[in-house]
Amino acid sequence: MNKIILSEKEVNDLVAENRYKVDPSRKFISRCIDGRYKNEEGLAVQAFPGADVGELAMVLSASRSYGFEIDREKVFATLVEVLGGESNFSFHTDEHGDRLKLASGCGHFKQINLDPKAYKIEKEDIDFINEKLGYVKSKGSEETVLEGDHAEGAILMVKGNWGVYPRYELETEKGKKFVEVFVYHQSLTDEKHRLLSDKLVKNGAVKFVLGEDSEYLYQVLSETSENHLMETAKRLASDLPIYSVQFEADGSFKTAKL
Ligand SMILES: [Zn+2]
Repeated sequence: MNKIILSEKEVNDLVAENRYKVDPSRKFISRCIDGRYKNEEGLAVQAFPGADVGELAMVLSASRSYGFEIDREKVFATLVEVLGGESNFSFHTDEHGDRLKLASGCGHFKQINLDPKAYKIEKEDIDFINEKLGYVKSKGSEETVLEGDHAEGAILMVKGNWGVYPRYELETEKGKKFVEVFVYHQSLTDEKHRLLSDKLVKNGAVKFVLGEDSEYLYQVLSETSENHLMETAKRLASDLPIYSVQFEADGSFKTAKL
């Protein structure tokens, strides 16, 4: 399939058609940046690389790269607390993924497995994540299975209280063409990481020795998120343009090419 690269005008048309409002009670439920999710009611808005697998990997990586100690079990328990229970822990595979190796069809987690050094993570962290995936599954979390080939034609960096469905029928001179977009939800991710940072400190999941606080933790988690997103974008989407999408409360929005 020939990949269609989306222009800013096409992104505007897509967003106008595909925007939907955040449900405040579910704003910290995540999905992956993957464009293969179906456009359906209830689709999580907080799009983040690897969904909650990526969230967990981010904290484990931050601890290694910034050199502070963590209690992994408490980190996991705190993330679950932010999500409102194990069954809300989101992760995915795809039709090609080996179902016994959890989340193996998630491009982000696959890249972490292939090159842990680049993501500043160790094998034992990956083992820990896999162990927890088995656990959340036993507690009712369902692994989403994404279908079809990748057809992402842009990366969207979204801000505001609206989400964007990833699939779209683009009008072209040669008729309608199916396209998808990678979505990273910046503002809900930031909000989730703020809460996570506060709770990680409060729950004693991180051990700071120099008086660092939850603001410091929030900053290093933000930097780690950005690095992880960029590592994966470099590997899976290096040919794609990146656009920012800034929503206002009423759903109107502005785009810009980054
Ligand atoms: Zn994924």
